Amino acid sequence: MAENSVALPHFWPILDAMPAPLLYKEHSRSRILANQAALTLLQRDPTLAELSLADIQQLPLYNPDNHSPYDLLHNPLLLALSGTALQLPVILGNNPGQPLLLHSKLVTLSFTLHSSVLISLQPMQGQKFISDSTGALAAEKSGSATDISELEEALAFDKLISLISTELINVQHDKLDQHILDALAAVGEFCHADRSYVFQFNADISEMSNTHEWVRPGVSSHKDQLQQIPQEGLPYFYQKIRQDLVFAVNKVSELPLAAQAEKQEFDAEDIQSVLCCAMHADNKLLGFVGCDMVARQRDWTSNDLRRMKLVGEMIAKTLQNVRYRQSLQQIQQQLLQANQELQKQASQDGLTGIANRRQFDHHLQSELKRSARNQQPLGLLMLDIDRFKHYNDHYGHQAGDEVLQQVAQLLQQQVKRQGELAARYGGEEFAIILPGSNSEACHKVASNIQQQLTQLGIAHQNSDIQPVLTVSMGYCSIFANQSSSTEMLIKQADAAQYQAKKSGRNQVCSAS
Ligand code: GH3
Ligand code: MG
Ligand code: MG
Repeated sequence: MAENSVALPHFWPILDAMPAPLLYKEHSRSRILANQAALTLLQRDPTLAELSLADIQQLPLYNPDNHSPYDLLHNPLLLALSGTALQLPVILGNNPGQPLLLHSKLVTLSFTLHSSVLISLQPMQGQKFISDSTGALAAEKSGSATDISELEEALAFDKLISLISTELINVQHDKLDQHILDALAAVGEFCHADRSYVFQFNADISEMSNTHEWVRPGVSSHKDQLQQIPQEGLPYFYQKIRQDLVFAVNKVSELPLAAQAEKQEFDAEDIQSVLCCAMHADNKLLGFVGCDMVARQRDWTSNDLRRMKLVGEMIAKTLQNVRYRQSLQQIQQQLLQANQELQKQASQDGLTGIANRRQFDHHLQSELKRSARNQQPLGLLMLDIDRFKHYNDHYGHQAGDEVLQQVAQLLQQQVKRQGELAARYGGEEFAIILPGSNSEACHKVASNIQQQLTQLGIAHQNSDIQPVLTVSMGYCSIFANQSSSTEMLIKQADAAQYQAKKSGRNQVCSAS
């Protein structure tokens, strides 16, 4: 149990004895208490539970998820818990094996965790809280970190950003821009900047374009001019952002000579200070987020950098996500089309374009079942071209093909109602499935076909029936039951068609 100058909270012995490392920040004070497990983990003096906010910021911690420096003060868990009352049931007893000896009965501790953090991290030596290879960031005043209003501002920012990022997780393409603008407004406001923006690189990072921009009221926008800026235009900036991933300038006036082009651009926009952070996704540099101070200067703080990095990371992940989703949708669409095409090919007759035998069999089977279920009649009409061999012999095979296409077309025009299907049954034989059609209705369809074929008047000089193309048709209509089969139905219609042939061709026969 640690010794402390100011009285510890009454429940502290419980937190202190917990096996998980725990930091507890009292709402009313700026001190933070570390329990025994936390003190051990952090390799601190076990008798001094009290830590200052500055202490916390200097803890050599890193985030095991992404190996980046871990910012304890803005721990998402802390944010999630902040302001929530936790019911923490603790069993207390005077059993010597129990470390907690407050009461001898079951109690429920109820308290509000304002800034307490469960640390699930490993300490790593040599990790600093913030590193800036350009050296442009101002060293933070040691007192400022303990400023409670700054802490609260940081919490407010993180809450806002976590809200926006939640929105961004499933963002639809049309709402993406608004959420990015919200994030830019947040980072702009919290960094006390006048302008914040997103630039995206093209594929080979030779050009950048300003895609999103937030400006404080009264501050000018330059988005329209900042499109497709070539690398050669801002060489110093390109090099910095690619190498250091951060471009932080407190005073544009003090930029080195090598940054002449950049200085000129900043002066043209009246920029005094600028802070940009690279945006990465999948090891690819997508662009950067940044903010400007216009007409006044600012020494960027580590909090500014942290915010910028956070927003940059969030936007990068979202952009990447949306891109993935778009390309996934495209692939899906292509796949779907290819699949539909295949499906069509598999069920279509190559010569005539109407349903093939495969689709016919499949469809007849399902209509037969439906007929049995609904107690509706099911009609089947079979058609065979008369003396087609003679046609081929006289006009040639290709002309024969064209006739098959014409007949198929004519049959296709007969099917209009749901479930009806015209198919090429094989060779010069066709079939029409007519759900809901009784014999009378089937006969009507057959008569129509005959009539329309006569109107077409396809010359067939080699026919002994007529000097024009004729067909023989047979049909049947049944009320299917459990014992009905497609074979039986086809057999009946085929027999009727055979009857039509036998009776002199160019006619229609019914199975009944
Ligand atoms: P019937 O009046 O008894 O039906 O006599 P038919 O000549 O029509 O009957 P048959 O079965 O003797 O001959 C069918 C002909 O159909 C033979 C074949 O060359 C022709 N045929 C089958 N498929 C095609 C095709 O895809 N294109 C062409 N051009 N002809 C085909
Ligand atoms: Mg035939
Ligand atoms: Mg024939």
